[in-house]
Amino acid sequence: MFSSPTLEQIPFDSFSNTKVKVGVLRLDTLHPVISGNKWFKLKYYLQEAKKESFDTIATFGGAFSNHIVATAFAAKEAGIKSIGIIRGEKPATLSHTLQNAISYGMQLHFVSRGDYQEKTSLKNKFQDVFWIDEGGFGILGTKGVGDMFEQIDLQKYSHIILAVGTGTTMAGIIKKMLPHQKLYGISVMKNNTALLAQIDSLLSIEEAKKNFELLHNFHFGGYARKTQMLLDFMNETFTNVNLPLDFVYTAKAFYALHSLSKENTIPSGSTVLFIHTGGLQGNLSLAPGTLLY
Ligand SMILES: *Cc1c(COP(=O)(O)O)cnc(C)c1O
Repeated sequence: MFSSPTLEQIPFDSFSNTKVKVGVLRLDTLHPVISGNKWFKLKYYLQEAKKESFDTIATFGGAFSNHIVATAFAAKEAGIKSIGIIRGEKPATLSHTLQNAISYGMQLHFVSRGDYQEKTSLKNKFQDVFWIDEGGFGILGTKGVGDMFEQIDLQKYSHIILAVGTGTTMAGIIKKMLPHQKLYGISVMKNNTALLAQIDSLLSIEEAKKNFELLHNFHFGGYARKTQMLLDFMNETFTNVNLPLDFVYTAKAFYALHSLSKENTIPSGSTVLFIHTGGLQGNLSLAPGTLLY
């Protein structure tokens, strides 16, 4: 349905005044609304649902969730019905995310924040649906992530870096990464101490020994939080290297890349693969004029 993601060389060295070369895996350009990594994570869940003859899939998410809108779209493409269980009471005006999800045919059910925690009892209220965990978390999700690299010459990179939510995408990359590489995962949540164990649960013992590291100090206040500095950095990045970023995920990861390169943690001469996981639709929740794009 989508073409393969393109790899784009950006003038990061002159922007950052370092000798770090950066290629960007542009999952964001696959579709204007569907965030690329979500699409890859969903691929095998949909296949499995069809194989098991389900006519409906269901999943969970917040009002701005890239996963919700991606699931709605992917289900529509697959000719399957979709249900979204949305955290929080129904607001007077629906977010762009939820409006898009509805336009792709998703049926939304709003549940209180308390009830949302009770996933098992929520699941019991719906019969005969194929459940996908929040954020597409799980082994089938990591399998789809592996397909991102089909057209990519992975071995020429010394470092890989990406934004991390549930860790499914990172786990999928860990499975594919090569022995000479270092992978940085930038957690976009504050103090998400459960994350490493969550990622490890998707890996074999051997995979868990690979050279990856989670960084927890680039959250800018926490999930979906932002500072003026982050927004300014997004505009500077767009002006200098022509890369649009989203404030929830990719801007934090790209800021981390910039910062790690400046301090030589990613040393001079490195060749970095930055995974642009998409999510640009989330910027619609910013006040008009905040961003230059
Ligand atoms: C969901 C999302 C992530 C995080 O992916 P996980 O596999 O949950 O870690 C990163 N970037 C964007 C743009 C996303 O929408």
